[in-house]
Amino acid sequence: VKTRLFYLHAIIGKMPKIGILGGGQLGRMLLQAAANYPVQTYVLENDPECPAAHLCHEFYRGDIRNFDDVYRFGKQLDGITIEIESVNVEALEKLESEGVKIFPKPSALRIIRDKILQKQFYKENDIPSAAFRITEKRDDLKKFSDFLPAVHKLASGGYDGRGVQLLEGDKDIHLGFDMPSVLEKKVDIHKEISQIVAINGAGQTALYPPVEMIFNPILNQLDYQLSPAEIPQQTTWRIEAIAMKVVKDLKTPGIFAVEFFIDRNGDVLVNETAPRVHNSGHHTIEANFSSQFDMLWRIMLGYPLGNPKHIVHAAIVNLIGCDGYSGEAKYEGIDDILKMENVFLHLYGKKETRPGRKMGHATILSPEKSDLVFKAKSIKQKLRITSFQPQTTV
Ligand code: ADP
Repeated sequence: VKTRLFYLHAIIGKMPKIGILGGGQLGRMLLQAAANYPVQTYVLENDPECPAAHLCHEFYRGDIRNFDDVYRFGKQLDGITIEIESVNVEALEKLESEGVKIFPKPSALRIIRDKILQKQFYKENDIPSAAFRITEKRDDLKKFSDFLPAVHKLASGGYDGRGVQLLEGDKDIHLGFDMPSVLEKKVDIHKEISQIVAINGAGQTALYPPVEMIFNPILNQLDYQLSPAEIPQQTTWRIEAIAMKVVKDLKTPGIFAVEFFIDRNGDVLVNETAPRVHNSGHHTIEANFSSQFDMLWRIMLGYPLGNPKHIVHAAIVNLIGCDGYSGEAKYEGIDDILKMENVFLHLYGKKETRPGRKMGHATILSPEKSDLVFKAKSIKQKLRITSFQPQTTV
């Protein structure tokens, strides 16, 4: 099929109207980038005080999982994108059939939002990913005793590590989920990598340099992220080729974060794909020529793709709410980290902090890895997000 770049702006002869389902930090940063383009922006979200609310032209209060709310919101728009997968796909399908452009297409969203369908998609398309079994209820795990150690993952509703449970052996079966899930062979992980890929309506692609997530084994959370990843050139090529195949096979324009494991043998396996802008691409705002947010606007508005290459090496640290504090957020140590050379602060404007809540991130730029790592560690110590209320007991 011959698809041509469409210049939405020119085609519809007026300012295009693009909506975002969800109003969190991804929507917020997307809207910051939208300010550079001729576009009218809309957000649908339940919480009128959400991070994206005051940056869009029009805010609509509603539930992104509700058919009527999404349909009513979308009917007035030329295009829609998402910042989270748990949206009403049926409404998006109806809107698509009525001519609204959806990024990513609902057909791709259906595959990705369900981990069972996502794993089957990898298998059917010969995309390397860890072996898996499907379970409908917890009891099914007993049949797969020989398959352990494995990681049990809820088919839907999991997010940020919730809905993921390591089962080392039979003794852990009671920890498994009593709902449709995927049981995935435990991978002996050497590195976790994210590859962001952009693809436009004409099928042209842009690959960002892969980035590397460094985990803190004691806290079991992301310590910091490095861009570009320190991996052999051969591995980069393999990752790029697989990521490219994932997005081509999903058959939709949009921006994608394909997450990979590199195992101890150097083999590359897809963990999962996010069909949207992603936490692992936040450094692209300062560190790459065209950020992931800028890129998605180019795709949605039908403009030429931007340059994904990095200008300088970068690290990202997530800024999360301190343990023991809930309530109106208080930021301690902003001066200390802004004093550091080439450190950029992004606070998401969330009113309330909670232990472990993602409240912002800091990007560090430097050609020296030791400088990136040193600054990442000191930012984690110096910037504390607490609350104005007295410390709660946890
Ligand atoms: P989420 O979508 O909640 O981020 P993931 O599927 O990415 O969930 O899993 C969260 C983390 O669990 C991964 O980053 C990885 O560290 C670990 N993990 C997931 N799958 C496996 C696996 N098959 N083997 C080993 N570790 C895994």
